[in-house]
Parts: sequence; C-alpha cells; structure tokens
Amino acid sequence: MQTKTRVIVAGGGTAGWLTAYSLAKRLGKSLDITLIESDEIGTVGVGEATVPTMHRFHQFFGIEEREFMRATQATFKLGIVFDNWGAPGESYAHTFGEIGQSNWLVEFHQYWLEANANGFGGKLEDYCLELKAAEAGKFAKKVGDTPLTYAFHLNATAYAGFLRQKSEALGVRRVEGKIDEVVVDKETGNIAALKLDHERNLVGDFFVDCTGFRSLLLGDALNVEFEDWGHWLASDRAFAVQTESTESPSPYTRAIAHDIGWQWRIPLQTRTGNGLVYSSRFCSDDEARATLLNNVTGPTITEPRAIKFRTGRRVSAWHRNCVGIGLSSGFVEPLESTSIHLIDTALVRLMRLFPFAGAMAPLAEQFNQETQTEWEAVRDFIILHYKQTQRDDSEFWNFYRTMEIPDTLAHRIEMFRENGYVWPDQANLFRSHSWIQVMFGQGLFPKHTHGATRILPAESLKAELAKVATSVNQNVAKLPGHEEFIKQYCPAHG
Ligand SMILES: Cc1cc2nc3c(=O)[nH]c(=O)nc-3n(C[C@H](O)[C@H](O)[C@H](O)COP(=O)(O)OP(=O)(O)OC[C@H]3O[C@@H](n4cnc5c(N)ncnc54)[C@H](O)[C@@H]3O)c2cc1C
Repeated sequence: MQTKTRVIVAGGGTAGWLTAYSLAKRLGKSLDITLIESDEIGTVGVGEATVPTMHRFHQFFGIEEREFMRATQATFKLGIVFDNWGAPGESYAHTFGEIGQSNWLVEFHQYWLEANANGFGGKLEDYCLELKAAEAGKFAKKVGDTPLTYAFHLNATAYAGFLRQKSEALGVRRVEGKIDEVVVDKETGNIAALKLDHERNLVGDFFVDCTGFRSLLLGDALNVEFEDWGHWLASDRAFAVQTESTESPSPYTRAIAHDIGWQWRIPLQTRTGNGLVYSSRFCSDDEARATLLNNVTGPTITEPRAIKFRTGRRVSAWHRNCVGIGLSSGFVEPLESTSIHLIDTALVRLMRLFPFAGAMAPLAEQFNQETQTEWEAVRDFIILHYKQTQRDDSEFWNFYRTMEIPDTLAHRIEMFRENGYVWPDQANLFRSHSWIQVMFGQGLFPKHTHGATRILPAESLKAELAKVATSVNQNVAKLPGHEEFIKQYCPAHG
C-alpha cells in the first residue's frame, strides 16, 4: 500500500497556515502534514489588504465567506484610493471593476478618449460601478444581476488563527518549537529533516519553507540566490501601528504618498491598520515613525512596530524537495496588496504539480517559470506607480521619477503613451482596467487612439456612453452603505 508523503511546513504565519490548510483540504488523503511554528519568534503580523482573487481561492478550498469575515473582523475592499501620487494634492482610485464595456477590438477607454476629444463623455470614473460605489461609501455583493468585484481587509493574526483551527480539524499536526538546524542530505542535496530546540528531529519527504523573511530552508540551507529589486523599488522598511476607528469603515484602502514614502490605512470592523513604507536610503527611522504618527486619524492602540524587508525574489521558489511560499520566497512591497494573492496562486500551482512520485526536477522547473512570469508582472505594475509621477519635491520622488525601469514596463508605457494600448497578458494579475486607472490617475494620457472609435458617429457614441453612465448611477443609488451591509451580513464576533 502506498504510504502518505510526509510534508513538513516550516512556519505558521499566513503562508504557513494557508499551506497547511489547503494541502490538507484537497490532498489530505495522500499527505501527512506537520507544521512547525515558534511563538517566541512570532509572525510579521501585517498583510491586511487583499485583491479579489482571494474570493475564488476561498471557494476552491471551502472557506465560507461570512464565517471568514466574522472571524477576521473583515470589511469589503473595492480598490485603493491613491492620494498625492501623481502630484501633491491629487487623488485617484484604482478599483477592481471593469470600466464601461470593451469589445474584442477596442477597449472602452479608447471610446472615452475619442468622446473627450470631441468635447463630451465626462470622467472615466463615471463608467465604473465599483469606483462610484467606493466614492459613495456603498457596498453590496451585487446589485440586480450585476455582481461587484471586491476583495477584503482582514485582521492578519486572526486569519492565521482561523486557518489553524480549520487545519487542525483536518488532521494537521502542529509542533511548537524553534528550528535550529536544517539537515541537508549530502548525497542528494535534498532536505532530510529539521532539528528543533537542539533535540527533536522532524523527518519529511517534502518541505515547505514558510519561515518568512528568514527563509531558513530555501535561502539559508539550500543557498537559493535572492534577486534584489531594490534598484527599482527602494523601500526597505515600514512602521505599522493600529488605531481606534474614528469613522465608518470605507470600502477601500487608502495609500497616501508623503515626501519620504507612503502610508497605508486599512479599515477593519473593529480598528484601523496603519503603516508607513519608506526607504532607509532617503529618511531616518525617527522621521518615518513621526510621519506615521502625525498622520493617523484615531488614538493608537499599539506601539509602532518596525519591520525591515528586502524587495525581490528567490530565483527558484522550488529547489530540490523544498518550495518557498510567502515571504521566504520573496516580497514585492505592499502597495497593491499582492502578497497573499501570490501565496494563493503558488499553492494552487504546487497542488497541481505536486511531486507524489517520479522525477521532481521538471515539476520544479515548470513551477519556477510560471512563478517568475507572475512576479515580474506584479513588480512592473508596482513600479509604474512610482515612475509615473510629476513629484519633484524630495529625494525619494526624484529618485523614482528619474530611475531606469525594466524594459518590459518601458515597452508597456510607450505603447500606452503613443496609442493607448494596454495589452496585459494572461499571466498578469492586473488586467487592462487596472493599468488604465493608474496610468490616467497619474497623468499618463495617450497621444493617439484606435481608429475603430471613429467609425461610430459622434451622436451614437454620445448615446452609448450616456447609457453606461446612467446605468452605473442607477446601480450606485440602489446600494446600501458599506457599514450597513456589513452589520447585517457578517458582523465581527464579540
Ligand atoms: C510592511 C508590510 C505590509 C504588508 N502588507 C500586505 C498587504 O496589505 N497585503 C498582503 O497581501 N500582504 C502584505 N504583506 C505581506 C504579508 O504580510 C505576508 O505575505 C504574509 O503575512 C505571509 O507572511 P509569512 O507567513 O510568509 O511570514 P511570517 O508571518 O513572518 O511567518 C513566519 C513564520 O515562520 C516562523 N519561524 C521563523 N523562523 C523560525 C524558526 N527558526 N523556527 C520555527 N519557526 C520559525 C515564525 O514563527 C512564523 O510563524 C505585507 C508585508 C509587509 C512587510
């Protein structure tokens, strides 16, 4: 009889518990799963805004939305409002909704540009339900037959606890202890065991490194190289602090740019998460801490916590019999809340390619190729926010405005600037409407538009656009307030 593959998950943060839970839920019959975590070391404790794909991941793995939202004091997120990014005093939203209706030939924003060139068409945001709903502080999962595209804000510590409970109920064994040695088999180069507290030995067949920035298995023991992206994304530190809520929770995250970095504001049902992301190249820790504390809205309920990080990724997320999931495999700063998404997609990929038997190397190669494409697409989108700015009021912004960018991004910007084409490929988490909102929001407008927009007579174009804008307005009017919806749908425990 085939014995179960012994999987050791090292680390119990969001990545560790998501790994343990999803493997147990879908492959539990074939795997024997043990998770090691150290209360003494703790978790990074941030990671509270998400993107809409979380929704589908939860569906795949049987996580019921209301139960999850109650347990994690979650609120809904329709997007992010960016303040002061293009220039100080300016503001725009990147929401998850489609803008207008595109067709196979031309994207909607091209029609809108053509309309604007002819003196009508209003603002682009008039054509996006999620954007108008966010502005109005409203939310529902759908209006009539039209679903809204949304993500969540959640309490990261509560999320890990919620997943732990579910994992243990599925038979995952939790071991408390500190890993002080990773035993590598000299002949095969594989990891053979993890030594805990100088005494216990945990032997496994396959190891998942979820030890966070420490990357004890993939980085330290297997020496997988780290590709540093600090020359494009200079931020390497953050302060995080929680405050009391002073207003009804907004259905969006706020990303407020300052002259030395940017600040997040994430509303939960019971409190607000805040943080300041900055670069040690351009400002001191004291200045960053003071900037954060001067710009929070309610009384603080925790001490500001300092977090150091490095932007980039391990060149192979899967090496030998070990895969890195979460921060151990890399990190792109949290501007577009992509890390939990990258954990989720890595887990789905791992499960589809799981090495039950046979040669592991081709599976690892496939995994690594797909991971690289996915991460580089996210990286480019984040860099766009920094590069496409008119800000020249600080060293921080001067660095970003004038830096060299990856060729892949330079090409994309050029296509948009000349012709308004966006062209995201399938591997890109961020679809056209995301790129468009950020490009327009930060002042990048195309010189030319697609010729197909000029086939339609101006009067017909006007009527078509008016129809879309009216429908958006009517739908927004029907939506309840965000807080009102949460109170009846998923009020937090206690
Ligand atoms: C400033 C900042 C803001 C962020 N914001 C967002 C966001 O808004 N949205 C988003 O999706 N993501 C965000 N992230 C990323 C997100 O926090 C992480 O992706 C997520 O929390 C997963 O972390 P992790 O589980 O990989 O690591 P960790 O939370 O650090 O967990 C590591 C685990 O390994 C264990 N461990 C480490 N060493 C040992 C050892 N020697 N022995 C035993 N156990 C050990 C620890 O105890 C812990 O359990 C943010 C990250 C940062 C730094």
